[in-house]
Amino acid sequence: MILPVYLYGQPVLRKVGEDITPDYPGLEKLIKDMFETMYHADGVGLAAPQIGLPIRLFVIDLDVLSEEFPEYKDRQLVMINAHILDRDGEDVTREEGCLSLPNIHENVTRKNRIRIKYCDEKFVEHEEVFDGFAARVVQHEYDHIDGKMFIDHISLIRKQLIKGKLNSILTGKVRTSYRVAATRR
Ligand code: ZN
Repeated sequence: MILPVYLYGQPVLRKVGEDITPDYPGLEKLIKDMFETMYHADGVGLAAPQIGLPIRLFVIDLDVLSEEFPEYKDRQLVMINAHILDRDGEDVTREEGCLSLPNIHENVTRKNRIRIKYCDEKFVEHEEVFDGFAARVVQHEYDHIDGKMFIDHISLIRKQLIKGKLNSILTGKVRTSYRVAATRR
């Protein structure tokens, strides 16, 4: 089932997500729906707050990047109760977008390598190192479960310049190819 994507301005996007337990109601279907919603919107990742749930869960499919990075072929990730343990490596700047911020693309500087602890969909615990683009995508989704968005990393001047675009998201005037839940319509 395709779920509406919550847009910038929705309070749930600013909540720090809570850890969940294996008996979280409908977890299997929720994960399936999140992948379906993400693919429908042509996203690379989707976090639970983006569909209105303040919990520490996100999904990622790195396969769309496999032309550029062959190691990401068929690489799907479900991360539950994720906690980043270390961020190191170089600072790398690259343009990012977000399904909750349609039509906004800005350069974001992030560390090139992270070590993260998480549970997969079967609640098996993993500790894994990601680098390069995967590290970026994981950090972007991880921000969501901590109540952050990528525009929090841009300069005040850039933020001022995109104010009009942010306002059109807030007032529900933005056009998207996918279903959304805006603060005002
Ligand atoms: Zn996002």
